[in-house]
Amino acid sequence: MAGKPAARLTAAIAPWLLFLAGCESTNIAPITGANAALEQDEQRLWLRADEEQSALERSGLRLDDRQLEAYLDSILDRLHPEPLLGGNHFHARVLVDPTLNAFALPTGVIYIHTGLLAHMGNEAQLATILGHELTHATHRHAVKGFRSVKNKSAFYATFAIGTGGVGSLIGAVGALAAVSGYSKDLEREADRVGFDRVIAAGYDPRESPKVFRAVLTEAKRTKLKEPFFFGSHPRLQERIDNFTEFVATLPASKLTGRIDAEPFNAAIQGALARNVAADLQAGDFDGARDGAQRYLARTPEVPEIEFLLAESHRKRNEPVATATARELYARLLARHPDFADAHRSLGIVLLKDGKKPEAAAAFRRYLELTPQAPDRAYIENFISQCETKS
Ligand SMILES: [Zn+2]
Repeated sequence: MAGKPAARLTAAIAPWLLFLAGCESTNIAPITGANAALEQDEQRLWLRADEEQSALERSGLRLDDRQLEAYLDSILDRLHPEPLLGGNHFHARVLVDPTLNAFALPTGVIYIHTGLLAHMGNEAQLATILGHELTHATHRHAVKGFRSVKNKSAFYATFAIGTGGVGSLIGAVGALAAVSGYSKDLEREADRVGFDRVIAAGYDPRESPKVFRAVLTEAKRTKLKEPFFFGSHPRLQERIDNFTEFVATLPASKLTGRIDAEPFNAAIQGALARNVAADLQAGDFDGARDGAQRYLARTPEVPEIEFLLAESHRKRNEPVATATARELYARLLARHPDFADAHRSLGIVLLKDGKKPEAAAAFRRYLELTPQAPDRAYIENFISQCETKS
């Protein structure tokens, strides 16, 4: 009984609290230097963001590529030379995950998935994504987004969207940034302010809408319901519309600038290779094939990538694709006769084709080259299948 009046009181006050929270959320100035003061609820979000960052980095999903991180940080410095709160600077990390996603923690750490990197064409496009993300941090969108969440305790209980990979690891702050995204107005602000930084850093603004169009094409190809904000069709269309409009309002004299495809291509090759393997693992054989072909178009004759390309055909388990795979293994082994895994896969293809003596020879070669093969028993079983008369 005692609870009832209190509940009624809460119900009466709640709309006012929301109203106040609404006013509060519109009145936070961007963080412009090292000495800004965080608001109380914001401090709690930052602590939570630090915990979520630790969980992500313990997960093993962070790509171990310090050269790429240094490259990304150099672009962030060019876009945002001013120090952040506490004198820090923006830092980027890459997560091995084939989904289309990037997100910023309010503390200034920006995550990009290998899947998103793999669908950008040059540094100007990458700068567009980084400019958008860093604005979410400087313009304090996390706390603004948090204040518009109705159920604050449910917000803090958010963990895991259950898709495996990064989706299962990010917490409340990451989910707000990466999954739901922010309101249309805040996203437009990130587009606009980010775009101005891209231009100030000397990049060609005409590249900006292109990156979102490329990502939309990829999101349509996978036909999967992307769990992340960046892969969602309507939100991508908003980005394309905003950037197309921004570019259209620029004078012709501004339609120029650096594109920097070469340093970008060189920096992302390792991430691209990991993404091809991640696509294969996820069963996206078209994605793996296209990624391997893009890689080889930039850097031909890399045996590890040629192998993954062959695997993307073999794993389809269709006659035409199997024949293509067999040809690719043969071509690779002609140049690299000691590539053990190619012998193993070639053996599987030959066995399926009923070419038992050739298959047995390939499996034996694999075991010779890999004395400690973890699948030795499995391969020996294949060899005895090859030796039985049928
Ligand atoms: Zn955004």
